[in-house]
Amino acid sequence: MIQDIGTTFDRTFAIRTAAPTDPVICCRPEGVCAVSKAPLVFPTAADFAPEELTYLFRVGEEDYYLARRDPGTAWETADRRFLRTAEPRPRAFAAVTGMHLHYWYTRSRYCGRCGAAAEPSRTERAMVCPKCGNTVYPVIAPAVIIGVVQRGRILVSHYSGRPYGGLALLAGFCEIGETPEDTVRREVMEEVGLRVTRTRYAGSQPWGFDHDLLLGYYCEVEDGEIRVDRSELKDAYWLRRDELGELGDSSSLTLTMMARFRDGYEPFPPEADLHFRHARAEELPRIMEIYARAREFMAAHGNPRQWGQSHWPPEALIARDIERGRSYVCEADGQLQGVFYYDFSAEAEPGYRNIEEGAWACGRPYGVVHRAASAGLRPGVGAAMLRWALRQAGYLRIDTHPDNTVMQGLLKKLGFTRRGVIHVEEDNDPRFAYDMILEEGGDDRPLAR
Ligand SMILES: [Zn+2]
Repeated sequence: MIQDIGTTFDRTFAIRTAAPTDPVICCRPEGVCAVSKAPLVFPTAADFAPEELTYLFRVGEEDYYLARRDPGTAWETADRRFLRTAEPRPRAFAAVTGMHLHYWYTRSRYCGRCGAAAEPSRTERAMVCPKCGNTVYPVIAPAVIIGVVQRGRILVSHYSGRPYGGLALLAGFCEIGETPEDTVRREVMEEVGLRVTRTRYAGSQPWGFDHDLLLGYYCEVEDGEIRVDRSELKDAYWLRRDELGELGDSSSLTLTMMARFRDGYEPFPPEADLHFRHARAEELPRIMEIYARAREFMAAHGNPRQWGQSHWPPEALIARDIERGRSYVCEADGQLQGVFYYDFSAEAEPGYRNIEEGAWACGRPYGVVHRAASAGLRPGVGAAMLRWALRQAGYLRIDTHPDNTVMQGLLKKLGFTRRGVIHVEEDNDPRFAYDMILEEGGDDRPLAR
């Protein structure tokens, strides 16, 4: 991003006299003066009268000064668009930051309270009124950049009536009295008519071009139809990660947030706020409701036999699981999101001793998951439960019904390998057997044992 300059930025206030070779930021309406653009070279103090220069800051080894006026020399102009990608990067950042200070200085020449001519403070970056003492500090406008995401898609837009015609995210200025999260919720409702359910901070950026401090957020929204506010946006629509394509330079927070999402970043991973713990006896009725719902789901997805024919699992079995500390739940939003059986030992599931048409990956102690069911309140719970168990065990075995294509798809996606066929106590249908070993040194090291 524009502020990532790989060197120091020292904005300590000082009043200094420029050396003849010190670089000078001399602003024009469309950008800054440049002696050369590639590489970016600024005019120097030798081109100006000393009293026309104000010390700004030090970037790396260079002390920068701001010119109070453009002497009209036939320099080139490095405009906004050029500066986004200009080299060297520290100089581009100095130009943009100098433009922000120039904008503020030129709009702070008179006292806003009494109208007298204001003067620069001798002790800090401020303009002071000699008549009434009013002090005005540099003005920064906080604004939010909003990456609205939903089920692997991100909402992109095109602004109305602005020169930049590329893909953009929603954005808006913080109003007085708002938190940036409030701004996110308000802007998303105003610009596309969607209700925000969750926000997640994504990063920030000083954006001197527009005198902003940008605060990036990803947010999730309720399902609904996009209603575009045509006064703000030309258009807004969903794009999948693979539809984002090439995004151009990475100088802006907007494009950085889009690229991060395109490259697989998931701001709201389903398990991020899931809390795993042992199931409690008093939760048995709710757990049985979750199992009933799971039987309906399986029947509706081509798998009526696995749990349906024996009305599996029986309540007495779950009560015993809970008593033995083998029934686990995950919860979020104050509700149970899923339930499963988990155990770990050298023979966590005696029924796995005999495997047909293949062999397990190894004979070491393993974790096993049975009776996994999602409450169906949010996506990704099944995957989160299996990943949790895998982290606990390091080596996980599991089986599923040949008709359970949903579970087979999930196991494949998570990296499980089908090893053979086993048999279970509840019916005579064979079960496909899977296992997976957590890679050593992976980011999912086992938590216990
Ligand atoms: Zn005044």
